[in-house]
Amino acid sequence: MNILALGSGGREHAIALKISESPKTKNLFVAPGNAGTSAIATNVEVGVNDFPAIKQLVLKEAIDLVVVGPEDPLVNGVHDFFLNDVELKSIPVIGPQKAAAALEGSKEFAKEFMMRHNIPTAAYASFTADSLKDGYAFLETLNPPYVLKADGLAAGKGVLILQDLEEAKSELKSMLVDSKFGNASSTVVIEEFLDGIELSCFVLTDGTNYKVLPTAKDYKRIGEGDTGLNTGGMGAISPVPFADSTFLDKIERQIVKPTVDGLKKDNLPYIGFIFIGLIKVGDEPKVIEYNVRMGDPETEVVMPRLKSDLVEVLTAMANGTLDKINLEIDERTATTVMAVSGGYPEAYEKGKEITGTENVQGSLVFHAGTKLSGGKVVTNGGRVIAVTSFGKDFKEALQKSYQNMEKLHFDGMYYRKDLGFDL
Ligand code: ATP
Repeated sequence: MNILALGSGGREHAIALKISESPKTKNLFVAPGNAGTSAIATNVEVGVNDFPAIKQLVLKEAIDLVVVGPEDPLVNGVHDFFLNDVELKSIPVIGPQKAAAALEGSKEFAKEFMMRHNIPTAAYASFTADSLKDGYAFLETLNPPYVLKADGLAAGKGVLILQDLEEAKSELKSMLVDSKFGNASSTVVIEEFLDGIELSCFVLTDGTNYKVLPTAKDYKRIGEGDTGLNTGGMGAISPVPFADSTFLDKIERQIVKPTVDGLKKDNLPYIGFIFIGLIKVGDEPKVIEYNVRMGDPETEVVMPRLKSDLVEVLTAMANGTLDKINLEIDERTATTVMAVSGGYPEAYEKGKEITGTENVQGSLVFHAGTKLSGGKVVTNGGRVIAVTSFGKDFKEALQKSYQNMEKLHFDGMYYRKDLGFDL
């Protein structure tokens, strides 16, 4: 098969690697890809939201299957674009249509979905500029901390957690009235604060059947001990040691199944990955958020643990025969550590040469913000390169990731050395 993967991060490198290992893959293209994907696939300079250029590429290379990595093209309707085009409509796209992608694109939509299908989540109410006063009154009924969420996509920055009531009111006003996050905050969801430990669960679905992939926990903050600014993710561990089989069973019964059944009941066709952000409150799982794609860097630990042929699995998703697939998962723990550019998540420089990847032994290297420039691999983003390792537990796996990370170098390189500190 000829396969096209859309995206350019570590997630897409990890997905592309699995696809490239399948005997079913004839040609693999990644658009736009990074230096890592160029070693296992053909990179094509096409943006993930440039639908007409994607169409040209799909027709030119006789693509049989498209896998969408990031959320943006899904929320913008890339799957619908294929379905509405006579030349493209028979080509399967892995990733939901726009209507279901609203589970990630609109927090209000996601909360209404969870309420409708009795899926455990934080209590909430949503407000617009017209109901600002009601928003203030609602905040007064809550105890701190106050959780304010811009309804739309805000590049992971649209959630504010505030201790002070007056500050919460003023932020609510700035989101609703002064468009703090542009259009994304024209509606704001105010949520009950949930106190617990977070983890993520990943699900594959063909719209009717589902398979649960391994759990993972990521580390979002830039600083050790989970301090400092939020990032796209500094590393991840899979499986999550505190998610025992009783807890996993609860997640499946109370959250995964009602989610997949709910999509069907609501007539929201869904072929793709569902990323469920969870928080364990006491012994109970509650949903923090849905994402309509895999997570990054969680993919860099979840995909390497998948022993089944990913192309077979993706084909079954497209054909509605996921029930026929038996997912084989590596029992070992996988960890990934992400190296980032100095200054990230604030201003940082690009174009620094990355050296040492050839010295890595016994770990996988996934490229994120990298590109080839004059025969050299250089930094091209905030999150640059991840080292994934296996071990009998997360400590052993992390030790390998750190040992190999020491062999890599670029100017300003930084990574967290305390992953797993809370486990
Ligand atoms: P992401 O960075 O994953 O894209 P997002 O902007 O889509 O996040 P959420 O995942 O809904 O937003 O929230 C971001 C973070 O805020 C969560 O990972 C969690 O740590 C915290 N958070 C969100 N909602 C709550 C809540 N109700 N109680 C406690 N913490 C919360």
